Amino acid sequence: MATKFQQGALFDASVLGQPVPMVGEQKDIQYFGTIARSVLNGPETTGMGFWSINPYVGCAFGCAYCYARYAHRYVLDRTATANPEHDEMQSARDTMPFWLAFERRIFVKQNAADVLRKVLRHGSERHQALLHGDTIVIGTATDPFQPAERRFRITRSVLEVIAEHPGLSICIITKSPLVTRDIDVLKRIARNSRLTVHLSLISLDRDLARRIEPRAPTPEARLRALARLRDNGIETGINVMPVLPAITDSDEALEALVKAVAERGASYLNTCSLRLRATARARYLPFIEQEFPHLAKRYWSTYGRSDKTSAAYSERLKARVGEMCARYGVPFGHNGRSGEEEDQAEAVAQRFLGDGQLTLELDAPDRL
Ligand code: SF4
Repeated sequence: MATKFQQGALFDASVLGQPVPMVGEQKDIQYFGTIARSVLNGPETTGMGFWSINPYVGCAFGCAYCYARYAHRYVLDRTATANPEHDEMQSARDTMPFWLAFERRIFVKQNAADVLRKVLRHGSERHQALLHGDTIVIGTATDPFQPAERRFRITRSVLEVIAEHPGLSICIITKSPLVTRDIDVLKRIARNSRLTVHLSLISLDRDLARRIEPRAPTPEARLRALARLRDNGIETGINVMPVLPAITDSDEALEALVKAVAERGASYLNTCSLRLRATARARYLPFIEQEFPHLAKRYWSTYGRSDKTSAAYSERLKARVGEMCARYGVPFGHNGRSGEEEDQAEAVAQRFLGDGQLTLELDAPDRL
């Protein structure tokens, strides 16, 4: 499936051209309120095979491999230019590295629920399209249950609107156990629509996870969330994405992860290896130099030239994880229900894989 992101489309140019008052601070994070003109991004604007909603622009979890930073950079640049008197905006643009601004200066789409309700009003053209099988994915560019959500509850308000509209197909992608706060709404949605939650988890190693995803919830918290969602009948898959070559890809680590999610009733498991586009590379490769200096040469020699690992690496990864899933009884590579949803899982994987074949592998692959 081709995935060509148009600059700005992934995350909503809709917030541009509006006042952006600071609506909150939390330690070193500042939140700015925006009035979005639209919140439901169509496949034609994002290049993805589904509709998407991102209640926030920017993400406090700060994963070193995050591919979505460029989107925030675009919004920050444009917003600062349009608001020359806005000191915080100017300062964020002019003094912060763009990758850090993504994590510390977060835009909150305060009117997301109202805009969505208008778009989905019964009988509207868009509602009809969504009733005919199109999927809405919540959290394609930022985590919808990041810390901001505890305070602003924008994602919950969006879910409330979705619960009013039966017959939809909804997928939520998150790393956060905060999603369990909204189990009541999720159950209402699941009664009348197709709902899947994708919990992202790349490692069970707490210390390792903290180095790579410094402000994201611990692996244990995510496992508890998985169990709770499944206990409440919510279909919940695990995205082991992205697998980081030579860091999270050992047989032992992957098997422990598969076993742990199987024991908690994961509905299925998807995986893919790391892909680094330009802005992600600008953050991730210096991170490797600092945190994993023994791997720096190998990473630079592979990802310095390209954003991909090799097809052979990817195939070996899928074969190994597929075999582990079969051993522990977790459906692999799809969500185990229908071809349509399989397509959706593939589309979600494309968030990381992009539109090309994997062609390179690390210089000295020692695993998989
Ligand atoms: S949780 Fe997702 S959007 Fe947020 S920093 Fe991590 S990879 Fe990026």
